Amino acid sequence: MTGYRGRFAPTPSGALHFGSLIAALASFLDARRAEGEWLLRIEDIDPPRCPSGAADTILRQLEAFGLHWDGPVLWQHSRDPAYAAALERLEALGLAYPCSCSRKQWREYPIYPGWCREGLRERGKPTAWRLRSDLGLRPVVWQDRLFGEQRFDPADLGDVVLKRKDGLWAYQVAVVVDDAEQGISDVVRGYDLLDNTPWQRQLQHALRLPEPRYLHLPLITNRDGQKLSKQNLAPALPCDDRAVRPLLHRALAALDQAPPDEFRMAPVQEQLAWAIDHWEPNRIRPEAHRQE
Ligand code: GLU
Repeated sequence: MTGYRGRFAPTPSGALHFGSLIAALASFLDARRAEGEWLLRIEDIDPPRCPSGAADTILRQLEAFGLHWDGPVLWQHSRDPAYAAALERLEALGLAYPCSCSRKQWREYPIYPGWCREGLRERGKPTAWRLRSDLGLRPVVWQDRLFGEQRFDPADLGDVVLKRKDGLWAYQVAVVVDDAEQGISDVVRGYDLLDNTPWQRQLQHALRLPEPRYLHLPLITNRDGQKLSKQNLAPALPCDDRAVRPLLHRALAALDQAPPDEFRMAPVQEQLAWAIDHWEPNRIRPEAHRQE
């Protein structure tokens, strides 16, 4: 066993589509190639956005593609105390503050201008909690395994919401606390999350949590150049083996792994065994946003 631990962390707002398959497959191959573990976390922190049954569908889809995870699934809906403890620590460090401002009030600014940093601007209204991005780590710099050095100035980031006015936890807190809880060494995920990473790096730094390595993957777009997503009605991945095999082959090709043509209808386990053996993340062309 190496020290490598990867994860796939879908939000169960719907079934997985081809874009999510790319993220799941790349993180799986990267972990297996390193003889590491690959964990699954269901990011169900926002119940109104997560229809019942979607998480079960995701588990079945992953199994159909042979993407078997290690250990128990971590469900974020069960993690409230851990997120609360993190927020308390940030508050004690002076790095989190309550905010009663509404989006409408600061709509003329590109990012939230930090009006509540030194105390609530208006009392008696519901409050969210925000991160003080002007105090912790700056500038935020890290090396992405595919996109190279990333450098963000906190002045451009804004004070991201940690806990919403409706009491739900924000993605940034949950992802950072749980990547640490699960001992994740390597995060492999879509390019759309790259610009969330600076807040996550700030939070890791503030909470003294280990910093994983990051590999962001080029996004897959549809024929109209839009990101594949549930909003754009990207079709759900099938679970039927005859349909799964060629789609797995297409996903390997989209990751620039050049799977042999004769593998197109090969059993899933055979395709995955080949792909683990030949996994070469450096072959992924970062600039390409290819068509599905
Ligand atoms: N839950 C996020 C999503 O489905 C991914 C989180 C992550 O990989 O950091 O977009």
